[in-house]
Amino acid sequence: MNNEIPLSYPDITEDDIRAVTRSLRSGRLSIGPQLEEFERLVALHAGRTYGIGVNSGTAGLHLALLALGVGPGDEVITPAFSFIASANCIVYVGATPVFVDCDPRSLNMRIKDVESKITEKTKAIIGVEVFGNPAHMNELAQLSRRYEIPLVEDACEGLGGRSGNDQIGSFGRLAVFGFYPNKQITTGEGGMIVTDDDRLADLCRSLRNHGRVDHSSKSENGTSNELGTWLSHDHIGYNYRLSECHAALGCSQMNRLDEIIEQRQRVAASYTRRLLANPDIIIPTIEPDVFMSWFVYVIRLSDRFTFFDRDTIIDGLRRHDVGASNYFPPIHLQPPYRSMFGYKPGDFPVCESISERTIALPMFTRLTDREIDLVCQTLEVMMMRITFSRD
Ligand SMILES: *Cc1c(COP(=O)(O)O)cnc(C)c1O
Repeated sequence: MNNEIPLSYPDITEDDIRAVTRSLRSGRLSIGPQLEEFERLVALHAGRTYGIGVNSGTAGLHLALLALGVGPGDEVITPAFSFIASANCIVYVGATPVFVDCDPRSLNMRIKDVESKITEKTKAIIGVEVFGNPAHMNELAQLSRRYEIPLVEDACEGLGGRSGNDQIGSFGRLAVFGFYPNKQITTGEGGMIVTDDDRLADLCRSLRNHGRVDHSSKSENGTSNELGTWLSHDHIGYNYRLSECHAALGCSQMNRLDEIIEQRQRVAASYTRRLLANPDIIIPTIEPDVFMSWFVYVIRLSDRFTFFDRDTIIDGLRRHDVGASNYFPPIHLQPPYRSMFGYKPGDFPVCESISERTIALPMFTRLTDREIDLVCQTLEVMMMRITFSRD
């Protein structure tokens, strides 16, 4: 037993493990009943008609843009402050990412800034609930309708959250969830596209499965009624399928989503209570009508602290066995975006200034109050050391 407190830790129960072994014993390992059930559960939760399971959130974003027909010569608006997959998917289809700075409180894109970036080449807008916060998503959906530019909701950080009565995953023409082990629920690797649009759903389902015409579960073992359809391909597709045992884990996790969110909310509330009074720590700003499912708990240091101080504090936390991370370095300043598109420091000042002072603290369901207290104490000691070293 070590005393390490990791940044994240998956919530896997014996029931989850039984669900996976049951699926392994069933004899069907791909495109079967577990995938169908997982798709049904996630779509239902997001208030959507269709769910299309894929093997990562990134694969889901890629297919969403392909299904919308985005390609070379097109522009897609996306936040500079997000995980890099929110922009990489645009590059995959040969389109140009057009970055937007973030609001200093919600950390999501500002609607006015999005509007100012719309041109006749804009083919889609990728809206991200950064750290799971659905702030401004309603206005973004309205803007997308007004300009008739489809919104793709990168909901990979927000499963289970909502703004008023609007569930995360219900805002875009298509929305995409991710199930990497640090997300609210996990399938190990996995993702899901949700939509109400029949045509887009069909297209995504075909594209994830080698562009097949027929994607019924009967085909895999050669018992399809229509001979030949398994090997006919309408599109150049991909293999982005989610396997049955991954989907089985997803179903089992979905059935505990409320319980998982409750625990994440408990952890977030403890951090907030513990850190609220510290004038050098900016805790997450959450609007009153927002229900958070808490992907991560990210604090910001006041501007008495520099980028180097922040990194020193993260190093210090890690040396004391407390997981911490710098969520997120701006996407436009990552080497490929600098070299391909010529972005440079100063292009998105709010995002740059914020990303220099963020620290993601440990966030997972089984974090105890004692551990939270230890994390906060360690953080405050590291901050004090920097203050003292200046005097
Ligand atoms: C996690 C995440 C994704 C997808 O991640 P995968 O590892 O591909 O499942 C996409 N966008 C955002 C904002 C994310 O946080």
